[in-house]
Amino acid sequence: MKQLKKIAVECRNIGLSYDGGKTEVLRDINLRVEPGEFFALLGPSGSGKSTLLRLIAGFNQHQRGQLLVDGKDITGVPPYGRNIGMVFQSYALWPHMTIWDNVAFGLVERRMDRATIKQKVGAALDLVGLTQYANRRPNQLSGGQQQRVALARTIVIEPQVLLLDEPLSNLDKKLRVQMREELRSLQRTLGITTIFVTHDQEEAMTTADRMAVMDKGVVQQLGTPAALFDYPSNPFVANFVGTTNLLPGHVDHVGGDVVRFRGNDVGEIRLPRHPDVREGPTAISFRPHTVRMVIGDAVRDPGYVWMDGAVEHCEFLGEFTRYRVRVGKATITADQAHYSGMSPFSERSAVGLGIDATQVRYLPI
Ligand code: ADP
Repeated sequence: MKQLKKIAVECRNIGLSYDGGKTEVLRDINLRVEPGEFFALLGPSGSGKSTLLRLIAGFNQHQRGQLLVDGKDITGVPPYGRNIGMVFQSYALWPHMTIWDNVAFGLVERRMDRATIKQKVGAALDLVGLTQYANRRPNQLSGGQQQRVALARTIVIEPQVLLLDEPLSNLDKKLRVQMREELRSLQRTLGITTIFVTHDQEEAMTTADRMAVMDKGVVQQLGTPAALFDYPSNPFVANFVGTTNLLPGHVDHVGGDVVRFRGNDVGEIRLPRHPDVREGPTAISFRPHTVRMVIGDAVRDPGYVWMDGAVEHCEFLGEFTRYRVRVGKATITADQAHYSGMSPFSERSAVGLGIDATQVRYLPI
């Protein structure tokens, strides 16, 4: 199949409510998906992801704001008037039709001539690697193959934009990993602007060029997976994208080279001065894999900020061991890389936890 024209999708101040405005589901959504981008809408259940995706497809109508596709406002255009392809979570294949007829369906509806249909369906099945299954019916295929049929059926109409609603959630873990690579490579081959919904941060991080993290109908942050992981702008994003230690508290002094942070549960921590820090209510966030851990009385590297703790729990995960360490009233997670021959810190042992100040983020609360 040929490369498709790359189109931008833009939401400007979009708001959507139900019950005459009483239930606000999307609030002031502003985002621009660049031409050819693979873009994820990531968030917990009920955050408004599907509502936004269905709104782009035309199945939901927003009351406020504009939806622009290729620069044109398509707010009032019904779904069948938009050239947007959507793959549903359930795949929604016709059970009584062959795979070939399922894929051909949209082209037959558009009254294309038989030769063109034959060529396009052949190319789409070839692209998803299902040529030899053309005469089967959906229930004679595995979940992963059905998913590919759903994709082929959608891309065969050459939509301007491809929308995927939790595309991998019906597949088992191993197939999910394989399919997400296939999906990514298919999207690159076609160059089609793609927006997909997922509640799985690993799925979003491994596949998306950029993503929008949503919560409570609001885009909390927008950016590349690495930017969101490294520089979350609020506690919700820090917690949802990856695993983190989030300690709420108060910065009560920024002076000279030192920031004095008083954690609600951990007492005072003195950290080197950082340009982002303001005095006031603040949570500090740092990732478990950035924490150093030594036995209680060992020599401590002065390049770290140290806290005393006691191991509460340890979980061996092969590549690393995940420790839960009690510090004051808080529990801190520390992941320590594992090499064969290493023996873990035992439960209840006294340890020192070293925070790498360059990895600490200060988040307003
Ligand atoms: P997500 O896809 O992130 O799980 P949804 O977009 O499906 O979230 O739903 C967002 C919110 O909108 C939920 O709280 C849901 O209950 C609400 N919602 C969805 N559809 C309707 C509807 N037709 N009427 C009222 N509330 C709805």
